[in-house]
Amino acid sequence: MAIQPIRLFGDPVLRTPADPVTDFDKELRKLVKDLTDTMMDAPGAGLAAPQIGVGLRVFTYYIDDELGHLINPDLDLSADLDEEGEEGCLSFPGLTFPTPRAIRAVAKGFNMYGEPVTIEGSELMARCLQHETDHLNGVLFIDRMDVKQRKLAMKAIREAEWSGMSAPVVKVSPHATQGRAI
Ligand SMILES: [Zn+2]
Repeated sequence: MAIQPIRLFGDPVLRTPADPVTDFDKELRKLVKDLTDTMMDAPGAGLAAPQIGVGLRVFTYYIDDELGHLINPDLDLSADLDEEGEEGCLSFPGLTFPTPRAIRAVAKGFNMYGEPVTIEGSELMARCLQHETDHLNGVLFIDRMDVKQRKLAMKAIREAEWSGMSAPVVKVSPHATQGRAI
């Protein structure tokens, strides 16, 4: 088991687009294991590498008793949307909000051995594929909400007990700044 701390909203790594995987090596297989262990421990239905501070295009999922992972995903979405489905995120603990998503998704990518795989999903699986692929692009579920819903979400986030916990620690300079703001 190698459970990693999950990065919370406010951590810049969640806003940084991840790099494609080029080496399907032992290190990648360890990353998939860490993601799987951390997701199952949380517990969560999906976890993307940036959420444990790793900037690579990898995510894991656990939907309808199906455990899997996908590397370098490429998504194809249906035009019809599920507007009202509730969605949560391990980087926003305890909060769920209605988030519009395509009802069906096809994700093409690779497994950890570099073999091509295709995952087809509808409803919850489609939602998960979209949510996790978004993480790899630095996109969060709050970005998918309409303006009104996003305002409600941001209010709940500000009031959450974990809010601000991932803010960078401001170090006070030991040097005098002659009263200037730095
Ligand atoms: Zn998430």
